[in-house]
Amino acid sequence: MTPDNLYNRFTALNPANTAPLLRMPDGRILTYADADAAAARFAHVLVSLGVNRGDRVAVQVEKSAEAILLYLGCLRAGAVFLPLNTAYTPVELAYFLADAAPAVAVVSPKAQAGLESVAREAGVKALETLGVDGDGTLMEKVAKAPASFATLALDTINELAAILYTSGTTGRSKGAMLSHENLASNAWVLRDFWRFKPEDVLLHALPIYHTHGLFVAMNVILIAGASTIFLPRFDADAVFAHLPHATTMMGVPTFYVRMADDQRLTREATSHMRLFVSGSAPLLAETHRAFRDKTGHAILERYGMTETNMNTSNPYDGDRVAGTVGPTLPGVTLRIVNPETGRQLPSGEIGMIEVKGPNVFRGYWQNPEKTKAEFRPDGFFITGDLGKVDWKGYVTIVGRGKDLVITGGLNVYPKEVESEIDALPGVIESAVIGVPHKDFGEGVTAIVVLTKGATLDEAAVLKALEARLAKFKQPKRVLFVDDLPRNAMGKVQKAALRETYARLFG
Ligand code: AMP
Repeated sequence: MTPDNLYNRFTALNPANTAPLLRMPDGRILTYADADAAAARFAHVLVSLGVNRGDRVAVQVEKSAEAILLYLGCLRAGAVFLPLNTAYTPVELAYFLADAAPAVAVVSPKAQAGLESVAREAGVKALETLGVDGDGTLMEKVAKAPASFATLALDTINELAAILYTSGTTGRSKGAMLSHENLASNAWVLRDFWRFKPEDVLLHALPIYHTHGLFVAMNVILIAGASTIFLPRFDADAVFAHLPHATTMMGVPTFYVRMADDQRLTREATSHMRLFVSGSAPLLAETHRAFRDKTGHAILERYGMTETNMNTSNPYDGDRVAGTVGPTLPGVTLRIVNPETGRQLPSGEIGMIEVKGPNVFRGYWQNPEKTKAEFRPDGFFITGDLGKVDWKGYVTIVGRGKDLVITGGLNVYPKEVESEIDALPGVIESAVIGVPHKDFGEGVTAIVVLTKGATLDEAAVLKALEARLAKFKQPKRVLFVDDLPRNAMGKVQKAALRETYARLFG
């Protein structure tokens, strides 16, 4: 691939294209031509604020059309877009600003006052604001800037387009450096694989500080010349109100759990839809089945991560197998290895998932040691996920490597135990964790969520598992909770559970 700015790959972004890009819930429509002009304005403002090629632009703002335009402006100016989770506190933000040393930081108007000293200490040249209603200091400057801009040509294929900080459930989160090439290659592959066309309308209820909402959803739309219904967040009422105007939806499993529970989810309400995609956390086979029973749609599950973009996807045509994330996407190579030796394992065996391809990031920002530790000498990235590949090439994720339970020296894969528990009548879901245990090192512990009115107790769960799982895999304790702790992307926070139950076995 010749080096080209990702912006230029979004060929629909041009002054002559009056097709819609963003359809806002209030009826406002932003066309591709509007976005092209606005991105030029943003790029001019960034340059005038002192942003040079390769400089970071840190952005912690609520989801808005303007935030997308700022992303596009960064691409045009050759700046590195660095979105930050809106949930981060000023203390956390201080770490990110010090680590990333951005030239410019853009924050919500209400957050500005509290961040001035933090930004100054981090050497930020300009602290600007951007609100959800087109307000803020950045927008005042944007309004006065010219509507055309010569998009920066890249010198090399590896120039950075974005840095996304990983969610960092253990230790400090790290900045994943993503090149224009990383993002372009994945957007292309996904557009073709999922058959996105200019006529498509994507229902977008995801956050845009994360790879899912920003790159999987928006880059695919932009490269296809399609449009999105751009909702501020997932809200079941809004989703069902806008669903009739959409053709496709991308979501995290929690969206689909909530939709499947809603009586408005019917065959008629979804008959015009062509695709529902799920990712970022495991979709329970039960949710897949419930959704299919109610709508006839088999949710398409895919697998990826901040560092790699998307690696695998269930097929568009062909079997979408519940509980799997499908075969490897075109251009991506995936292998399963023994985590200790790095030796490749035969089909069907569980091991560490490693991937290689144009989608895989350039390394961790200012962290060459960590980067070196996570790549094999032959260029494969060690994902940290455990999984297996069946004879048809379908990949199943068994869990994060660090969630593996080692009890009495034996490995227990949480998913295997969770699947058995989840299959019991009255169980909604479960999380299996390892908790410090003086005899076994770790004791297998199951945290279970029951349906309303279910009478299952610890003894009944243990009894049911007796005949199904080897003794060492059977939980030493089964505890019941109303909900499992989850982050914004729907991932169960096992580290938090391990902390809560750290002293369970004394
Ligand atoms: P993030 O970098 O926040 O996107 O998180 C990436 C991680 O989410 C992966 O390494 C997996 O552990 C998990 N993940 C993403 N998609 C799936 C999926 N379809 N099934 C199971 N886990 C997933």
